[in-house]
This record gives sequence, C-alpha cells and structure tokens, in this order.
Amino acid sequence: MAKKHGFRIDLHVHSVFSGESLADPRDILEAAIEKGLDGICVTEHQSLYASRPFDELKKDYPSLVVLRGVELSTDAGHMLVYGIDDAEWNDWGKDRSVNGQELIDRVRKLGGVAIPAHPWQVVPSPGNQEGLQFTVDERITILDNLTAIEACNGKQLGHPVICEILGAFAKQRGIGRIGGSDAHVPENVGNAYTVFRTPVCSPRELVRAILSKTYYPQTS
Ligand SMILES: [Zn+2]
Ligand SMILES: [Zn+2]
Repeated sequence: MAKKHGFRIDLHVHSVFSGESLADPRDILEAAIEKGLDGICVTEHQSLYASRPFDELKKDYPSLVVLRGVELSTDAGHMLVYGIDDAEWNDWGKDRSVNGQELIDRVRKLGGVAIPAHPWQVVPSPGNQEGLQFTVDERITILDNLTAIEACNGKQLGHPVICEILGAFAKQRGIGRIGGSDAHVPENVGNAYTVFRTPVCSPRELVRAILSKTYYPQTS
C-alpha cells in the first residue's frame, strides 16, 4: 500500500437514512476503514437529523472519525453543509427549499460552511452526442462568499476532466476544492475524498480546516 499522506476524509456519503440509498450504516463505516480512510462525513439528503444514529454507532469504530452534515437542494444546485448542529438546523434548515446564496451566508453566520456539490453541467451541443463537454454549473458562478466547491465527486470519475474544470474555477476564484464519493452503496465509499494536512476530528475542526483552504481532493 502506498505511503499515506495527510488526513483523508470522504466528505460526501449517503446511507439508508437518505431514503434513496440501501447502504447499511455499519457496512459504510467498515468500508471506510477497509479503504484506509481516516474519516467520513455522512450527508443525507434534506435532513441533518436523519444521520443521528451514526452518533451512537461510531462508538464501535474508534479508529474512524465520523462526522455529520447534510446535502440540501437549492436554486443553485445541491449544497453540502458542514459544521451545523442539530439545534441550529431545527431553527433554519428543516424542510425548507432554500436560496443558495442565503444558505451560504446563513450557515457561515452560524459558524458552518455550505459548499456546492458536483457543480458541473454538460455543455449543450445540439446534434453532437459524441464527446460530451462539461463546464462549471453557471448557477454557482454568480454566488458570493464561496469557501470551496466539491471539485471531485465519486460519481463523475468516468470523466476526470470535470475535476480539472472545477479545479481551474476554484483556483481562479481563490477558493478551496473538496472531494467526496457521493456513495450510496458501501463499495463506493472513498472513491473520492479530501486530504487535510492535519487531523480533523470534530465539526468545528472541519469548518476551520475547510476555511484554511489547505487541502485537496483525491480519487482512488
Ligand atoms: Zn447531490
Ligand atoms: Zn449526494
């Protein structure tokens, strides 16, 4: 096995609590350890509460950092939210369709970060089905106060150019690039992840690390 560098966290994982995934939580945690990850962040769709059972389960997996976030639908596409606790979520996020910019600003005020997930789109090319081309999702290009984007998502691994395009956008904007598998089955956990310089063991440490922008996405 290659020498490990940094602290590797898959920041985008779904389990059975997402509704559309059948992944058993224990299988996810075991897969993460098998893949050599240092941590995962569970980001169920539309509900921060949904992943609460992981707080109980993680006691059985002391070698793995298990964090919880949420993936929300906004008018600027899906966003991953980190560093918010359950009480705050009750106040602002629950069952609400959200404006992307408002989400970013509100979450930041609460001490967390909201990050556009898989923010790419296919360039429309009528009559030409071959050689798909990709670009940055134009809905995120008008957002202010972006901290980072998810430059590498496990579901786009068939098109590594997407990672490059999003990486170039992040560089141009001076924002961070995270990676996450977007796994809905245990086998896909760790297909993409984020490498941090130092250990990240709590939601607050995760936010601090993301704000530092000293990390990079990786695929396996
Ligand atoms: Zn998504
Ligand atoms: Zn997702």
